[in-house]
Amino acid sequence: MEKDLSPTLLDFGPLQIYLARHFGFCYGVENAIEIAFKTIEENPGRRIFLLSEMIHNPQVNADLLSHGVKFLQDTYGNHLISFGELKPDDIVLIPAFGTTLEIEKKLNEIGIHTEKYNTTCPFVEKVWNRSEVIAKENYTIIIHGKPKHEETRATFSHASTHSPSVIVRDMQQAKELAKYITGEKPASSFSEEFKDQHSKNFDPEKDLQRIGVVNQTTMLASDTQAIADFLKQTMIGKYDLIDKNIEEHFADTRDTLCYATNDNQSAVIKMLETKADLAIVVGGYNSSNTSHLVELCEEKFPTYFINDEEKIISSNEILHYNFHSKEELPTRAFLPSKEPVKILITSGASCPDALVEGVIRKLVSFFPVTRKTEELIENFK
Ligand code: SF4
Repeated sequence: MEKDLSPTLLDFGPLQIYLARHFGFCYGVENAIEIAFKTIEENPGRRIFLLSEMIHNPQVNADLLSHGVKFLQDTYGNHLISFGELKPDDIVLIPAFGTTLEIEKKLNEIGIHTEKYNTTCPFVEKVWNRSEVIAKENYTIIIHGKPKHEETRATFSHASTHSPSVIVRDMQQAKELAKYITGEKPASSFSEEFKDQHSKNFDPEKDLQRIGVVNQTTMLASDTQAIADFLKQTMIGKYDLIDKNIEEHFADTRDTLCYATNDNQSAVIKMLETKADLAIVVGGYNSSNTSHLVELCEEKFPTYFINDEEKIISSNEILHYNFHSKEELPTRAFLPSKEPVKILITSGASCPDALVEGVIRKLVSFFPVTRKTEELIENFK
């Protein structure tokens, strides 16, 4: 049966909120938070560290910090606390994105065993398994992902133990990679161009003859599809392939997006059919899946990316994040002077629902609404 992806209308009279059918917390994030808090509860007196942000949400991470948990690294892998300060009795939580084999090894050498405190999402592990399967069939692994993102670094680390691997950030990089496949670019410039994005001793002449694509679980579905299609066409052109023998050079696998990314993106695509005035996306500013929801909304509506209701300063001003320029900017008169005002709302996989509720309550406070929020919420219980 086809899923109903139409948004839910919360009709407050002069304000109409269209809430995406799927939004917010995913299984992997809930699981990670649960393990983290259980670890704190069960281990009084022991030092507990997080390898890096548990998830890309400032409120959740602040909550963990307030319980005495400390971060070992920032999101980009820079050390905040040296591994040298760790003792065998310390607990180190592995975040939902997973981690690299190198870091796991370092922790094990100190005497810290991470198995019990590993919150790596099973959907991320699924990508690692897929990479292993592709590698066993002697394909080089192309990872579509953000090169500095924890999850992509972890996937790259796992993939590259099995097979030559290279990360492509976007279509532009995929096009450059294709030039090494076709021979348009000399192999000698590969290392520099894909610096920090390819496995050791990668030989573009030999290692790009047979490829398979996997991706970071939170990329934009259409981007990954376009990149895989483009690389497939490149292989078809280079080796004169037909349907029957395409797998000699291209592993025809489906994308490795997780269910939450798929559901949240599909729900936004459906929600965009609504005739609305603007869209608000709630989530952490460094959250990959949230930024893709913003990207989708921006194609059709003025879109405001905020991390909590405090960013809605007044009915006349909103402070929102521009993820292209990576800065927070104020916009005045963001609410149109008309009735009803129609607003689309969604949130990323690492965003607690309470934040979305806070945003709705703040918006409602600007209008002479006739129906109480509780009354509407009651309808959905
Ligand atoms: S976004 Fe997907 S892969 Fe990431 S933690 Fe959530 S369910 Fe897992």
